[in-house]
Amino acid sequence: MSESIIRIAYLVAAVLFIFGLKGLTHPKTAVRGNLMGATGMLIAVVAVLVSREIVSYGQLAIGLGAGVVLGSLLAVKIQMTAMPQLVAVFNGFGGIASALVAAASYESIRGGTPFVEVLAADPSDTLAATTSVSVAAAGLVGAVTFTGSLVAFSKLQELIKGKPRWVPSGRVVNGALLAAAVALAVIMVVNPSTTVFWAMIAVAAALGLSLVLPIGGADMPVVIALLNSYSGLAAAAAGFVLQNTALIISGSLVGSSGLILTMIMCKAMNRSLANVLFGGVGGGAKVEGPSADEVYAGKIKSTSSEEVGMMLESASRVVIVPGYGMAVAQAQHAVRDLMNLLQERGTEVEFAIHPVAGRMPGHMNVLLAESDVPYDHLKEMEVANPTFPQTDVAIVIGANDVVNPDAREVPDSPIAGMPIIEVDKARTVVVIKRSLSPGFAGVPNPLFAADNTMMLFGHGKEAILDIVGALKED
Ligand code: NDP
Repeated sequence: MSESIIRIAYLVAAVLFIFGLKGLTHPKTAVRGNLMGATGMLIAVVAVLVSREIVSYGQLAIGLGAGVVLGSLLAVKIQMTAMPQLVAVFNGFGGIASALVAAASYESIRGGTPFVEVLAADPSDTLAATTSVSVAAAGLVGAVTFTGSLVAFSKLQELIKGKPRWVPSGRVVNGALLAAAVALAVIMVVNPSTTVFWAMIAVAAALGLSLVLPIGGADMPVVIALLNSYSGLAAAAAGFVLQNTALIISGSLVGSSGLILTMIMCKAMNRSLANVLFGGVGGGAKVEGPSADEVYAGKIKSTSSEEVGMMLESASRVVIVPGYGMAVAQAQHAVRDLMNLLQERGTEVEFAIHPVAGRMPGHMNVLLAESDVPYDHLKEMEVANPTFPQTDVAIVIGANDVVNPDAREVPDSPIAGMPIIEVDKARTVVVIKRSLSPGFAGVPNPLFAADNTMMLFGHGKEAILDIVGALKED
């Protein structure tokens, strides 16, 4: 197929990626956006396959078959609550793929001649020069992304909790590893050799570990967005290695949109990026000391679904605050039923959504959209917070860190400075969860013992269904 047709195919794919991303910015157009992105990817893959004989079609079929089986199994088996971990692993796969492309390209460009030899013979060879820079960038960023994402996965899966004691982390170690990795990358460009290449990969891999291992508490969302961005940057560098326009464009799109998301997350968490990466904020996620049961002994007021039903009957404004526990309990449909019932009775109902509620950006929005809660009922934190003094009942379902007043009041708390949903300012707060156990950040929550808080202990979905039942009985 002619080169110009391939270029047009890449262009069409790139346009579809951009419109796909635009579609993803709103729930109504998200499905269409997703389809556009997938179509763009199909066009790009087909264009690559027909334009280059990188490996034989037999090998491609084996790779494709293995990928389809693995991908389908993951897609079918994975629980909705495990999606964030899956995304973290996919970021890691993107990183390692780019690093492997770098490793393979290091060995040969142009009919199998290593670019090192091409450069030695002709230092002005632009392809070889571009390749050496791109190989260094793809290898470095790819390796950091791979190990960093594996740690992010382990933290989300709760295989690693908080900051492991054995990690020699901190600004000095991170700074030293970063300096060493960049120095090796520069040597790779100026005077490439296999030893330097693999030394750079090893140092970059160690950097990925030391950057992400100490991060805990409420700062993980920032890191996940950043790793997503890194996987895009590594792919864009791999695109330069392979001289593939579609890969350069799609990698840049992932890199820049990931960076924008990182900035949004930093703003939402009231953190600077440097602070998250090098300050080790939230590192002490695992709080030692007495358990919440001991701390709040005698101060907790439990309630029942009947009592909550009675409170809701006389409420004129109710705000529901969902968190990770709503996702675990799959309570979103029951929550929608509660909203409908209250609205039929003339009660004003809104949802207050924290930007990092759940385990992935937009987690709550996705779940509530899935259960047909109208989008205009979902209020962002800044919009919802001023309304709590006029709110009769705030129902917190499966949320914990995002409503923890310690973030506002205790300067040395691992979540200090993170803006919260200020449910404690409502007239009455009903917290639905199974126990007093802490959330992702591992810190006890004084909201549970506040004078205006009632705890409704139980599984999120069953508790909401019981409240709906109690309301219907009247
Ligand atoms: P939290 O993790 O703070 O708390 C969730 C609560 O849900 C737990 O305390 C748990 O209590 C409760 N829960 C679990 N299962 C159920 C169930 N079946 N029924 C009822 N309750 C249940 O969640 P938040 O949403 O408040 O905060 C999110 C946290 O995750 C933040 O620290 C954020 O930084 C972090 N994070 C967010 C990411 C994002 O992108 N959004 C990514 C990575 C981390 P109990 O066991 O007692 O029921």
